[in-house]
Amino acid sequence: MSSLLNSPIAALDAIEILDSRGTPTLKATVTLESGASGSAAVPSGASTGKHEAIELRDEDPKRYFGLGVRKAIGHVKGEIADALEGRNALDQQGIDEILIRLDGSKDKSNLGANAMLAVSMAVARASAAACELPLHRTVCDAASFLLPMPMFNVLNGGRHALSSSLDFQEFMIVPLGAPSFSEAVRYAAETFATLRKLLLAMGNSTAVGDEGGFTPKLVGGNEAACQLIVQAIERAGYRPGVDLAIALDPAATSFDRNGAYWLVRAGNRHYTSEDMIDLYAGWLHKYPIVSIEDGLAEDDWQGFAAMTRRLGDRIQIVGDDNFVTNTHFIQRGIDEHTANAALIKLNQIGTVTETIAAVRLCQQAGWGTVISHRSGETEDTFIADFAVAVGAGQIKSGSLSRSERLAKYNRLLEIERELGPKAEFVNPYL
Ligand code: PGA
Ligand code: ZN
Repeated sequence: MSSLLNSPIAALDAIEILDSRGTPTLKATVTLESGASGSAAVPSGASTGKHEAIELRDEDPKRYFGLGVRKAIGHVKGEIADALEGRNALDQQGIDEILIRLDGSKDKSNLGANAMLAVSMAVARASAAACELPLHRTVCDAASFLLPMPMFNVLNGGRHALSSSLDFQEFMIVPLGAPSFSEAVRYAAETFATLRKLLLAMGNSTAVGDEGGFTPKLVGGNEAACQLIVQAIERAGYRPGVDLAIALDPAATSFDRNGAYWLVRAGNRHYTSEDMIDLYAGWLHKYPIVSIEDGLAEDDWQGFAAMTRRLGDRIQIVGDDNFVTNTHFIQRGIDEHTANAALIKLNQIGTVTETIAAVRLCQQAGWGTVISHRSGETEDTFIADFAVAVGAGQIKSGSLSRSERLAKYNRLLEIERELGPKAEFVNPYL
């Protein structure tokens, strides 16, 4: 590690850029007195949990339908710059505490979680630059050498693909039998290319959704997606369940209507919490599924507990909308046994330090952690370095298409090379 102890912040700046849906977001730059600097851009979700930290939008209907971020930028250049200039960028926790205090709200609605996170991540990058080390070595204490098992989203539905026939938002493939991260990427890319050929042969669309997976219209609805993925794995020359398995993110909050789950595209049928768990349990017998995220809605704590009791010793049960990367909700989940893993999204909570705390809480409880992109992304690759540093064990960053998705996987390929023989890669589902 570097012996540098103090590196004061000289200036902050931010600009309005566009995310992968063409919606404004912000990119902040932190410059240190030493001349080193770091920049970071924040992503944005579409199927958000109601307790997520607030993204500040201008609400000026004359610009970007009200979605501009000039107010957030004003906060970065104004009160945040005033509070942080002269502070030590190497003290991430101290910086984030200043941001939290300055905002003063519970949901980060005063400064905006987008403004705060852009600065928090840019500080982490500037600090790594000051130490002349890669971000994955400096962003947290006790940085790991563990490359994450990737979950590649190959079929998009729900709010990420309004024209597809799938109610479930994400059908992912997990190359759990691969011996290294780079081999995992190859297994998945070959399977994705094979899936494209299968869809073309069926006369189906190979257009992609927000996270880069295909958005077909499949007769047989959500279950047909699992069948098609198994077929693609086999045709690509791999063994389903041994080389590649399936992970799901139904994002059930998005089809919950007052406690009933409505699968509108699959025949407009409604399901109780019990019915949904039965459906998943049935699929586990037929398909090599290793992980289900948000199988139930964010408020269905009882349902999550029942699902974890019933399926939790066979598969990973991940909470996203219900936990929102917030230690308060994750602790409740640990106490009430409502999952055995959490999705981790920096912008759900709004600072790097709080995100690390969420990961550490999961790790202490023996839970899995999946570092995640958002459906509205940028070319920023922060989460790749972050996943390695905290030893998350898993990452999801979308498909094998769309460069804002691949940027994260490509950065992990670089990190794998940087770490050389120190790089570790393990199947987290054993
Ligand atoms: P979002 O989706 O970024 O649109 O919230 C990702 C997820 O639900 O995991
Ligand atoms: Zn999710």
